[in-house]
Amino acid sequence: MSLSRSDFDQYMVPNYAPAEFVPVRGAGSRVWDQAGREYLDLAGGIAVNSLGHCHPVLVKALTEQANKLWHVSNVYTNEPALALAQQLVASTFAEKVFFCNSGAEANEAALKLARRAAIERFGEKKHKVLSALNSFHGRTFFTVTVGGQPKYSDGFGPKPEGIAYFEYNNLDSVKALIDDDTACVILEPIQGEGGVLPADPAFLQGVRELCNQHNAFLIFDEVQSGMGRTGSLFAYQEYGVVPDILSSAKSLGGGFPIGAMLTTADIAKHLVAGTHGTTYGGNPLACAVAGAVLAEINTPAVLEGVKTKHQQLKAGVEAINAKYPLFKEVRGMGLLLGCVLADGYKDRAKEVLNAAVKEGLMVLMAGPNVVRFAPSLVISDEEIATALSRFEAAIAKLLG
Ligand code: PLP
Repeated sequence: MSLSRSDFDQYMVPNYAPAEFVPVRGAGSRVWDQAGREYLDLAGGIAVNSLGHCHPVLVKALTEQANKLWHVSNVYTNEPALALAQQLVASTFAEKVFFCNSGAEANEAALKLARRAAIERFGEKKHKVLSALNSFHGRTFFTVTVGGQPKYSDGFGPKPEGIAYFEYNNLDSVKALIDDDTACVILEPIQGEGGVLPADPAFLQGVRELCNQHNAFLIFDEVQSGMGRTGSLFAYQEYGVVPDILSSAKSLGGGFPIGAMLTTADIAKHLVAGTHGTTYGGNPLACAVAGAVLAEINTPAVLEGVKTKHQQLKAGVEAINAKYPLFKEVRGMGLLLGCVLADGYKDRAKEVLNAAVKEGLMVLMAGPNVVRFAPSLVISDEEIATALSRFEAAIAKLLG
């Protein structure tokens, strides 16, 4: 059977606009398409392929589990889920873990838990959710509304209520909204989809203090910033500001779908049996892979490597930019980098993406003005060098 990109248009719901080529195989930070053309991957499946493609340790974990037990539902627990929960608790502030299948579901669980706990402790009025404008927390109707980007949440009828929006990195804007009816404040320590914008440390610390003053829970959405992306296991550890609830997904599974919500025992106790759930949450295959991902990433070698590779990649882009001034800023932490287009190239990130593909390089956008890199955390020096030379060739052609 021969399949091609045109089958997407014929058979699939048109909510995506995938690239013209169809990837068929990957190894490390390289991907090949149907025609056998090779690409260097700085997109990492949108910050998901934390250990590259088909990492042998993950292939082993998946295939071993595939020969043992695939699924039992939450009517039973299972060993890979228990082991992963133990690993996450041992490596973070958390004492309890809830598993699900995606970032949106991890945030949905976080928001429901925060409201439930706040309401049970202080009464029905304490349900207000504060969230940053231009943030991204997923596409369920609650999370997409919380995301504060009307272009994603408009047009679906009445929205969930009780949500107010502050300006990211503007503490006064949080102060103006927070009160004793606030159940929680949710934010990304680095706004990913919103343009790879890291939080100011004083802002995160200030929000933590405001939450303490008003008995509001602080939720960090670490779906994109977590699992080694910043060079610490989670970005909150890099900042030294501890949330009450944390969501993880993307890099947690290294390419196998899984999400997790982490919290303390005192807060977790409000989600008693029957209050929340999902059939696949804690699926043995997903948890076996994520356990292997976590063990592999949570080592000094990988985490320090992320910081070294950050320097390499950033310096490389800055050197290209000195020759071809396309960007006004290269920002981000660890291996989540955003190259912000100079004013003269406004809204042209998609053109940079297309030019890169022509040179055999996969990169991402984060809005129309930011070219984003979210590669494997173990991308090799040689792969970084090749990716940079392809990026330079793409920019030279685009500007030439
Ligand atoms: N939260 C953040 C910070 C994200 O970047 C994303 C996805 O881009 C999500 C949540 C949603 O995750 P998922 O697409 O797995 O539902």
